[in-house]
Amino acid sequence: MLERKEPIHSVVFFDTDWEFPEMYDHLDLLEKNTSIKIIRLHPKRSFNHWMFDRKVIPIKGPLKGKIRFVGLGWPRAGFRWCTGKKFDEFKKYTNKVKDHTMCIGLAADEQARVKVKTKTQAERNKNSRYPLVEWGITEKEALQYCIDRGYNWDGLYNVFDRVSCFCCPFKRKAELKALYRHYPDLWGKLREMDAKSRTTFKYGTTIEDIERGFAEEDQQMELFAI
Ligand code: SF4
Repeated sequence: MLERKEPIHSVVFFDTDWEFPEMYDHLDLLEKNTSIKIIRLHPKRSFNHWMFDRKVIPIKGPLKGKIRFVGLGWPRAGFRWCTGKKFDEFKKYTNKVKDHTMCIGLAADEQARVKVKTKTQAERNKNSRYPLVEWGITEKEALQYCIDRGYNWDGLYNVFDRVSCFCCPFKRKAELKALYRHYPDLWGKLREMDAKSRTTFKYGTTIEDIERGFAEEDQQMELFAI
C-alpha cells in the first residue's frame, strides 16, 4: 500500500503476548524501515489472566454469585475466546477513527476466510477491505514479497508455513512437531501452561501426551535408520 501511495491512517497490531519473539523483532524492524509507528493493541486483561485466573461467576441459576471455576482454559472449537478479545480491541480502536476502512491482510488464496457467513461477520466487514485479495496475491507470493525486501523473521517461516501464537491449540500436528523440535524453550513454556490450565490442550490430550507421541515417533525413526 505504501508503494502504491495509498493513504494509511495507522498500522495496527494486536499483541496477544503469546507471539513468537521473532514477531516482535520483525515489528521493530518494520517500524525502522518504514518510519511508521505500529500501534500495538493489548487486551484489557492479559490472555494469561483470562486463561488461568479469571473467576467465572454465574449471574443466574443455582450457582448465581458463586465462583463456578477459575480460568477459561485453552481456547477451543465453539469457545475461541481469544479471537473475540482481539476483535473487541480492534473495534474499540477503529471506532475512534471516523470513516475508516480496515485493510485486512488475508491473501487471495484465503477467500474462504473472507466470505461473510453470519450477521456478525457482515457487521464486522462493513468497513473492511482485503487488498491482497483485490490484487490477487497469494500467501506464498506475499511471503516472497517480504523475503525479497529483506524480512526473514529469523527463519520462522522456514520452519512454519504460517505463524500464529506459539501456543495456539488450533495448530496442526506438523506445526506442533516443528515447535517441539525447533523451539524447545517455547515448547517448555507450552508444557508449563498446559499443566496450569483447567482444560487440556486438545480435547483430552495434554502437551505431555503429545510430547510422548513425538518422542516415540523419533525413537522409531532412529530404529529404521539403523
Ligand atoms: S492464534 Fe490461536 S491462540 Fe492466538 S489468538 Fe488466534 S486462535 Fe487464539
